[in-house]
Amino acid sequence: MSAEYNIITMQVALPPDAAGFIGFECPQCRRYFKIVDATHNGSHTLRCAYCGHSDDSETSLTAAEVDYLKQVHFGEATAQLQGQFEDDMVNTFRNSENVTVTREHHLPPSPPPRPMERDLPNQNTCGSCGLVYAVESDAKICPQCAAPAK
Ligand SMILES: [Zn+2]
Ligand SMILES: [Zn+2]
Repeated sequence: MSAEYNIITMQVALPPDAAGFIGFECPQCRRYFKIVDATHNGSHTLRCAYCGHSDDSETSLTAAEVDYLKQVHFGEATAQLQGQFEDDMVNTFRNSENVTVTREHHLPPSPPPRPMERDLPNQNTCGSCGLVYAVESDAKICPQCAAPAK
């Protein structure tokens, strides 16, 4: 994972989609599953529902989610720079009689729409930990506690 990617994920938390899901793509087998964020215990380690690979949840985000985080991060960084530039201008011309600089108020950037997660055929509720997750039909384990999938 690149350093740039890590900086972005530290500063912006990924919200779930409109249905409450956060999707993951296993870095090992590249397969896709998604979990209901509200039923997740907050652990940063997730297991792949298919191959059992255990990894930090942030390294298992999908390309669509990483794109989304980059957009959010870019919007925030731009607004911050713009604010700093205007502060500088106001300070520079504060005592000038000929130039009046007013500071505009910028609304915080509205985040781009969060992409919806992809549809999956099966939705399971884990009997051990209560995690609700959606997977392909050949999933083997719960991504949170590794209990066998039904
Ligand atoms: Zn996997
Ligand atoms: Zn479980």
